[in-house]
Amino acid sequence: MNNIPKLFGTSGIRGEYQKEVTLELALDVARALAKYIGGANHIVVIGRDTRTSSSIIEKVMTAGLEQSGCDVLLLGMVPTPVVGYAAIKKDANAAIMITASHNPSKYNGIKLWNADGSAFKQSQEREIEKLVYEQDFDIVEWDKIGNDYDISSLKDEYVDDIIEISGIDSSQPLKVVVDCASGAGSILSPEAIRRSGMDVITLNAQPDGFFPGRNPEPNSANLGELMKTVKVLGADVGIAHDGDADRMIAVDEKGRLSDFDKLLTIIAREFGGTVVTTVDASACLDTEMKKIGGSVLRTPVGDVHVAESIVDNNATFGGEPSGTWLHPDFCMCPDGLLSGLRIIRAIQKNGPLSKQLDSIESYPTIREKITCPNDKKQEVMSEVFNNFESQFNDIKEVLTIDGMRIQFMDDSWVLIRPSGTEPYIRITAEAKSQEDLDKIQKTSVDFLEKLV
Ligand code: MG
Repeated sequence: MNNIPKLFGTSGIRGEYQKEVTLELALDVARALAKYIGGANHIVVIGRDTRTSSSIIEKVMTAGLEQSGCDVLLLGMVPTPVVGYAAIKKDANAAIMITASHNPSKYNGIKLWNADGSAFKQSQEREIEKLVYEQDFDIVEWDKIGNDYDISSLKDEYVDDIIEISGIDSSQPLKVVVDCASGAGSILSPEAIRRSGMDVITLNAQPDGFFPGRNPEPNSANLGELMKTVKVLGADVGIAHDGDADRMIAVDEKGRLSDFDKLLTIIAREFGGTVVTTVDASACLDTEMKKIGGSVLRTPVGDVHVAESIVDNNATFGGEPSGTWLHPDFCMCPDGLLSGLRIIRAIQKNGPLSKQLDSIESYPTIREKITCPNDKKQEVMSEVFNNFESQFNDIKEVLTIDGMRIQFMDDSWVLIRPSGTEPYIRITAEAKSQEDLDKIQKTSVDFLEKLV
């Protein structure tokens, strides 16, 4: 299957509408998915984000599924987690989310989900690619064509269920500002927070595929308005989502954007036991989990890997430092709305977010990238694997599940990892002191620059 072109990246099919993501491709992926799940009489859920191209991609994929004899359950514009939830609730055989997550407006994408609400694994995506490449579809006759049904009212049930599982206390109202980027979390995320008894102020909560208020990537460059609003209005917390609301990032009551790793750690501490994160996450999670007798497992970058490891190891919680969190007590689909409710609950229980964040020990970190052409990345990485021992001292442990993560005797570490999508090799490092960090950084950058 090696000569079959790859369609799926680290988070589904993603690209510019009409360039990489065409209606023809969407039709073929729908037909391939239909065949993959067993063809006629099977059921597929479809949800979509607010992008201008999402609605026509939904129509084409619906046609491809019905043409293959499948019935289609349409959620309309919903956050990604509702798609995973609906797959379980409606006993569907698979689900589709049409979104390009945090990418700009002209992008779109297709992400596939299993009947249990978990994302398709790489091996499953390869099967879909093979069916598309070979144009191996089963198109049915006129009397076997599938139907589509509107299940958008399921959103209500979803909201009830996430409020219940979050354990939020409606008699303890907090003031919450929520910024939805005009993406798929618009309407539903503010509604969930309001229905949980909180006092809600919204920013960018009108669905709009042009993302007029801010870029859908929830980072410090794009969340200035939210930070200011929280501070000026004296709110307890600010909640921000990406374009499809599978992610959540919080702003504390002082108007500071939370450190992503610390935010993850706050909720991981609440769960205890074994939690899962990716190779690029901070050691502050390990330190805090050790204090409460818990443990941390690491996976390659990508929420699919985190989800797999949670299931395999019976973990209580997991996530990526990007704000993509998985709540296995609810559903195996990353859920930015439930993440938001859980942060509110943690504030009710443990006090101001700023205090909780500041209680976590933190270490100096760097995230750097070295330009490296895509076709040279593999060669450079094999040089890294072959020669790292001559560059670094006091190595305690080496992890090679995704790039190379070198852990040193004093628990500082460096991760050298090729970017999955861009022409870079990334360097992430964390150390107990700035001096140690500078040393690690210099050694890594010199080492890589010689190789590139
Ligand atoms: Mg997303």
